[in-house]
Amino acid sequence: MKSFALLVVSGDAYVEEITVGSKREIETGTRVDIFTAFKPHPKARGEIPYIPASSWVGVLRHLLENYYDLPAQTPRIRRGKEGTLVAPIHECQSPSEILTCPVCKLLSRRDVVAWFDDLDPRGEKYSVQRGRRAGEYIIKNERNEIVAQVVLKDEVVLPRDVEKTIISADIAKKLGVEIDKDITGKELIEKGIRFEPIPREVQVVSGAFKLGAKFDMAKLSFNDLKPFFIGLSLLEDRYIGRRGSRGYGRVKFDNIVMTLRSKEYYEGGDEIPIEVDERKPRDVLKQWGKIRQAVDEKLKQILG
Ligand SMILES: [Zn+2]
Repeated sequence: MKSFALLVVSGDAYVEEITVGSKREIETGTRVDIFTAFKPHPKARGEIPYIPASSWVGVLRHLLENYYDLPAQTPRIRRGKEGTLVAPIHECQSPSEILTCPVCKLLSRRDVVAWFDDLDPRGEKYSVQRGRRAGEYIIKNERNEIVAQVVLKDEVVLPRDVEKTIISADIAKKLGVEIDKDITGKELIEKGIRFEPIPREVQVVSGAFKLGAKFDMAKLSFNDLKPFFIGLSLLEDRYIGRRGSRGYGRVKFDNIVMTLRSKEYYEGGDEIPIEVDERKPRDVLKQWGKIRQAVDEKLKQILG
């Protein structure tokens, strides 16, 4: 029996002003946050921005857990600033649970059945140039297309909730205000101290990135992949990251192509294309039955 077939999903991810941030764990109940990072690229003689798979798949998983209303049933110990706490996450434990869970079946199996690529800028070879603005740089590919742009943006953090801000005697003393008990920010303002917005610079990334995912079709059926496409649609609908509230942090997927790789492919043969016209996640979902039929027909030829 030829029990080997990988389904490759590739496409473009258009990203608009995603913030470069530090890696943060994404858990059920916490804020959705995608982050970009930089990696050195030998040919570009500089660092190129990319979106790590752990970042975008983490957000996709978080959105799917909410979408399917999955319970956070597995306790995890976390040590943070506020001490040790138990933070439950969604993770099915028993094999039978995993195989009936739309998310864990795809993303949490010990026999890994899905692989996701980092989103790298579109192209193969990159060059990095300084942009015209301060703190701006531009990444071009081998076809001289601008595939990513990084800029520094000024952002101000406004002092909010002055009534809820608690000022200790220590802090007040540093400001030259003598108090014998904690006071609120509002009371401090009444004593003549000003609250100011804090300016800071943030680095944001825009561009055309490559989407890539592989699925083990000897162990999955095409229907098991549906949550992945729903997840892509959910990602498109969300403003992502802490700039989201300012209207930035968008991602759109397009030019989705599916191919199958059999054993022959790894022995020098060609990929088998799945001929469909749908290029966007929601269009793929709209024509799901038709596409499933096309995939199943080709799979039958490969897997028997
Ligand atoms: Zn699960």
